[in-house]
Amino acid sequence: MITGERVSAYINSLYPGSGGFLEKLEEEARAAHVPVIRRETQSLLRFLIASHRPRNILEVGTAVGFSALFMSAYASGDCRIVTIENNDRRISEARKNFARAGAEDRITLLEGDAMEVLESLDGSYDLIFIDAAKGQYPGYFPRVMKVLEEGGLLVSDNVLQGGEIMESRFAVERRNRTIHARMREYLYVLTHHEELTTSILPVGDGVTVSVRTGKNA
Ligand code: SAM
Repeated sequence: MITGERVSAYINSLYPGSGGFLEKLEEEARAAHVPVIRRETQSLLRFLIASHRPRNILEVGTAVGFSALFMSAYASGDCRIVTIENNDRRISEARKNFARAGAEDRITLLEGDAMEVLESLDGSYDLIFIDAAKGQYPGYFPRVMKVLEEGGLLVSDNVLQGGEIMESRFAVERRNRTIHARMREYLYVLTHHEELTTSILPVGDGVTVSVRTGKNA
């Protein structure tokens, strides 16, 4: 958590929640130690969906489908979501959850390694949410840029690594140094890319929101 515990607890106490099936699914996922987006990130996504009104969402990192169902619940009825996952157990749980929610016609789950699946995508997306292997974010980036529409949003979760991102690489445990370096590289690219305008937000474990403004960004 980047902000103080008490500040986050207070902000979360104001979050109205999503109720019904989504809350049940969130509880089930947390009980099974499956990672799902935090309340703060839910609130941000809900805001972005309400203001941006996406029609085609791409998600990298489905887990058991919570965030895909969450986005689907707050997007317009004609919004379609494509989500990518490579873990077999989670794929089968996500498919069950999409069926339980009656959302199979709105959410398409693509199975496999995101690096490969992203290469095979055609079509374009006006909101892309990245929430998968942190060390792979720089690898996903050129692939998602190929399908991100002008004016579209790119949202990336877990970018501040519990605040460790600001530390020198020598202060980071050796086994975390590759991820640390890659995430720093990713943040540099997002904030210096000529077609993107990016804000890094200390929300949850850190979220970036980038808009593709074109070459004059
Ligand atoms: N977005 C989900 C939610 O909030 O409900 C949580 C996603 S979880 C943080 C990250 C997921 O990305 C995991 O289920 C993991 O198996 C998946 N993942 C990691 N690397 C991947 C890759 N290279 N290709 C596809 N999925 C990947």
